[in-house]
Amino acid sequence: MIWNVDNVLVLSAHTDDMEVGAGATVRLLVESGANVRSVVFSDCRKSVDTSKHPIDILRKECEAAAKHMGIKDLTIYELPVRDFPARRQEILETIYGLRRDEDYDLVLTTWVGDLHQDHRVVAEETFRAFMKTDVSVLSYEIAGNSPGFTPEVYVPLTEEQVN
Ligand SMILES: [Zn+2]
Repeated sequence: MIWNVDNVLVLSAHTDDMEVGAGATVRLLVESGANVRSVVFSDCRKSVDTSKHPIDILRKECEAAAKHMGIKDLTIYELPVRDFPARRQEILETIYGLRRDEDYDLVLTTWVGDLHQDHRVVAEETFRAFMKTDVSVLSYEIAGNSPGFTPEVYVPLTEEQVN
């Protein structure tokens, strides 16, 4: 079992954050036998060009990605993209609820220095919710959005996990 973790919570603002920022690591955790719960705060329907795609295309892609990665527990909320700062308290209370649901060993979340306000709010509220607990919280980098991100944890991955 990698890092000796049984229960992992992965938090994302949007339907592609975890896949881009920590997808291969999450795959490794799943392969290692960890119970992975993935929670996404927005289905990003505001970002869909509905003249070309069904409004739930990003939700469906996220569900398909989770299935492909072996994640059995996925929750996708419907907060509007770019409005997370105004919904900060609601997000914090949701994360508190998640914390109460399960005894997590590890939480993966976005980074507090990320340029996107939604990523930043999820990161800040994750750290606030798990403050003063013995849960390990790590941030993942979303490339192109995270100038100044300094990796402190490196995870050996196989090419298959990355793919
Ligand atoms: Zn995002």
